[in-house]
Amino acid sequence: MQTDKRAGLSKLAWIAHALISERDRRFLRRRRERVRVVRGGRELKQPYKDILRIAGVDPLWYDEVGVPRYEPFQPKLANDIYADECALVLLACQYCGREMQCCVSYNRMRRFLVSGKPPEEFDPEYCYLADLFTHGVVGYGDPPCCSVDGELCTGATMSPMELRVLEYWRRIGGEWMRMPENEYELVDRMTPAGGE
Ligand SMILES: [Zn+2]
Repeated sequence: MQTDKRAGLSKLAWIAHALISERDRRFLRRRRERVRVVRGGRELKQPYKDILRIAGVDPLWYDEVGVPRYEPFQPKLANDIYADECALVLLACQYCGREMQCCVSYNRMRRFLVSGKPPEEFDPEYCYLADLFTHGVVGYGDPPCCSVDGELCTGATMSPMELRVLEYWRRIGGEWMRMPENEYELVDRMTPAGGE
């Protein structure tokens, strides 16, 4: 029953649910599925209990594959060291509402693998992540495993709520440059492109 399914949604999820229409939700589901295929978005992530146990405190942020990280975020700390786009985004577990800062990144070689074209044919000005964000989409896949009293949260297998782009960086000529114009609330952008 749909009612039973929604009973577990957090207040945050309900607010987002009320803000967008069913048509918009269908659009976003299709787009997320495409993003997941293109980016190889990972399903349930490794909980990394060994790292969490040794650290003994919550991480400051999680990288692209859900590894807990304890140094303040910098784009050069991204899991993908070849990334040429990188962002720190605020996600929330759809089940328990826990908020998490997570890194997403993208690189030229991935674009090459997806398109089959040589990297030189790509528009050097095109920013894949920045384009996704304009549609309110992050494409992180399932959230980092969050534990409730040491147990795996049900939300670890659910798409997280995508709340805000906290930091957006692009590597130009080997140097990471922050571009605040791509940092904003994502819920505000959760509308279909092209007036669909
Ligand atoms: Zn949770």
